[in-house]
Amino acid sequence: MVIILKQKHEQRQLDNLLKWLSELNLKTTLVKGEQSTILGLIGDTSIVDIDMVKAIDIVESVKRIQEPFKAANRKFHPDDTIIDVAGRKTGGGNFTLIAGPCSIESREQILDIAVKVKSCGAAMLRGGAFKPRTSPYAFQGLRAEGLELLHEAKKETGLPIVTEIMNVNHIDMFTNVDVIQVGARNMQHFELLKELGRLDKPVLLKRGLANTIEELLMSAEYIMSGGNKNIILCERGIRTFETYTRNTLDLSAIPLLKELTHLPVVVDPSHATGISRLVKPMSLAAAAAGADGLIIEVHNDPAHALCDGAQSLTPESFADVVGSLNGILPALGKNEIVPKLG
Ligand code: PEP
Ligand code: MN
Repeated sequence: MVIILKQKHEQRQLDNLLKWLSELNLKTTLVKGEQSTILGLIGDTSIVDIDMVKAIDIVESVKRIQEPFKAANRKFHPDDTIIDVAGRKTGGGNFTLIAGPCSIESREQILDIAVKVKSCGAAMLRGGAFKPRTSPYAFQGLRAEGLELLHEAKKETGLPIVTEIMNVNHIDMFTNVDVIQVGARNMQHFELLKELGRLDKPVLLKRGLANTIEELLMSAEYIMSGGNKNIILCERGIRTFETYTRNTLDLSAIPLLKELTHLPVVVDPSHATGISRLVKPMSLAAAAAGADGLIIEVHNDPAHALCDGAQSLTPESFADVVGSLNGILPALGKNEIVPKLG
């Protein structure tokens, strides 16, 4: 971190600042130029509140040289992290497909979809039991009953399950869930992130609707600093002025995240676009941009889905996406998706 001081400052003010920084265990180097005085900080600057430094009367400006995230930073962990969920690997060249309905609606629905996405090559089954809906009058998910049905689908197919948590008090209900999803709306639910940090269970952390890449990594840092290093990041589109799509898929976030962090990055083209016919091109684009996998909404009857039908693929169109992905994955140095018969 570099602090540029205002031209006019008293020695007493500078001494106070130096004392405060040394109390934070930071070493300082002072460069006095003709026009300005620059203070270089050496040490763990991740604990420094940049806004607090900016507010100091003799400070002109502050610049971070090092990223504020440590555990997630590729600089300190150059190798890709591979998340292993019951033998299904994500990251480090392993490409994973997670598929299933937006929400679990009935036993027949989730079992039928689970069998179909598995046969297409999905490695994990997604399905929401607790749904974050904009309207309180919209279907909120089957909650505990939904989780039970998801477990049934896991038993039936052997697919590990991925489902969203919204409430810290629900953590015990997620004990047998394979991957806990933190949705876009809860990316900065810090108390929830801290509790997930105490677990030894993979977390699929989605980027918030209006959050920066650094904020996503800082949320990952919340979980990792608690001890849980099993995180899969998810780019799921951000809010922009565009209205033709539900969100705008930030494709550039994929290679950027791959540079900044060792954590795997998957993409959700369903929520990113909100339009089922855009899911295939965006899936291919995400793979080409370096994604480690995709999480895709698939429904056996999208027209009657209780949630997100417009963006849901039929099992047939999902199979078509898998076929096209297999056309490019080997060229990208990734494994092909293997459909599972029977
Ligand atoms: C979901 O996956 O169904 C969901 C609600 O996603 P997001 O949090 O990305 O909106
Ligand atoms: Mn959804």
